[in-house]
Amino acid sequence: MNRRQFLSVLAAAPLAAAADPKPNVVLIVGDDLGYADLGSYGCKDIPTPFLDSIAKNGVRFTDGHVSCPYCSPTRAGLMTGRYQTHFGHEFNPGPAEQAVENFGLPLTETAMPKRMKDLGYKTGMFGKWHLGYKPAYHPQQRGFDEYYGFLGGAHSYLDAEADPANPIFRGTAKVAKVEYTTDQFAGEAAAFIDRNKDSPFFVYLPFNAVHTPLEALPKYEARFDGKITDPRRKTFAAMLSAMDDGVGLILKTLDKHKLTNKTLVVFHSDNGGPTPVNTSRNDPLRGFKAQVYEGGTRVPFLMQWPGKIPKGKVYDHPVIALDMLPTFVAAAGGKPAEDWKLDGVNLLPFLKGKDKGVPHKQLFWRFGRQWAMRDGDWKLMSMGDAPALYNLKTDIGESKDLSTTEPARFEKMTVDWKAWDQKNIPARWVPQGAAGQKKKKKKA
Ligand code: CA
Repeated sequence: MNRRQFLSVLAAAPLAAAADPKPNVVLIVGDDLGYADLGSYGCKDIPTPFLDSIAKNGVRFTDGHVSCPYCSPTRAGLMTGRYQTHFGHEFNPGPAEQAVENFGLPLTETAMPKRMKDLGYKTGMFGKWHLGYKPAYHPQQRGFDEYYGFLGGAHSYLDAEADPANPIFRGTAKVAKVEYTTDQFAGEAAAFIDRNKDSPFFVYLPFNAVHTPLEALPKYEARFDGKITDPRRKTFAAMLSAMDDGVGLILKTLDKHKLTNKTLVVFHSDNGGPTPVNTSRNDPLRGFKAQVYEGGTRVPFLMQWPGKIPKGKVYDHPVIALDMLPTFVAAAGGKPAEDWKLDGVNLLPFLKGKDKGVPHKQLFWRFGRQWAMRDGDWKLMSMGDAPALYNLKTDIGESKDLSTTEPARFEKMTVDWKAWDQKNIPARWVPQGAAGQKKKKKKA
């Protein structure tokens, strides 16, 4: 080393030492879990101690949303940080064996694992993809180093080969046998953490729990013997309890490697609860999965990063799953470029109290003929018919339409909605019989 090289090493060293090492990021997603399904969100009959511990050690969002009340579009928004309707990913593909031909997270879009990989992360995914079946759309083509899971929208919890059109894969190889999928996905994620404990890692763990089919192992059902009598509710409770255990396994694995303080952990659901289908609950919200009422898009949403974001904080301003990508990139020391065209924002300054403003003045949703927008406490929405205006601060259950008593606000929000909708493109596919796009009735 000559003198000049030596001096330049000296100059660079303090900077390198001062920079925080990159934290690990673990993103856990539940499926069809409603706003009222966790203890920390008021659930009384199903204990969820591990999920609730994230609220205790971090932040619980009371107004946390996904960008669609339905599985695949939500995931397209989550994985890109962009409103999925900007790139035509508006609907599900339909069931695996009859999925629309051109379905998949458009290849024009860059997914979260690729962003994290570019920042030096080992990336692993364990669970439900639902963003394309064809080889070009496979998770390992979108930035994941490792993958274990299924590509469709739902799967048997017990039988790996239940649906020939929707197998379980390790990488690109079909798997013949599976443990209970919830246990298996959590176990695979924990093993990935074990293998990668010394390098920054990004884990995406999208459980199929608590989506149908209602299937649980006896050991989980037994927890509710004599406590829950309705058989469907009892199975649902067992499925949720198993997922909570899976989250517990991840938290314990981080602890085991002394990585808890070096890891940003997020949990949220992919849409609200379809109460009639799986007994999940959204109270006190109106509506369900597949609807742009609050019950369809407002979900349990939790984040912990001990020492970096506050502990036991309840955060009431609206946030959206689109914020995860910029938040993770910022945590990793990266900076999104203009041409990423993100709609989400980095939440860390807001959670740390460094930014006293709100992450979003407005939020928007479009799902076929349904649409909605938030502006502060106000929500303008339509189920495909005349729009209604609600004040969520005084009426979280969306019961009193104020469109005629607040005509100026109604007008202004309608204009803003239309301006946002200009940035959307037509849906790239519209599956037969999917929710949200009821056939327009012919006017008589
Ligand atoms: Ca779902």
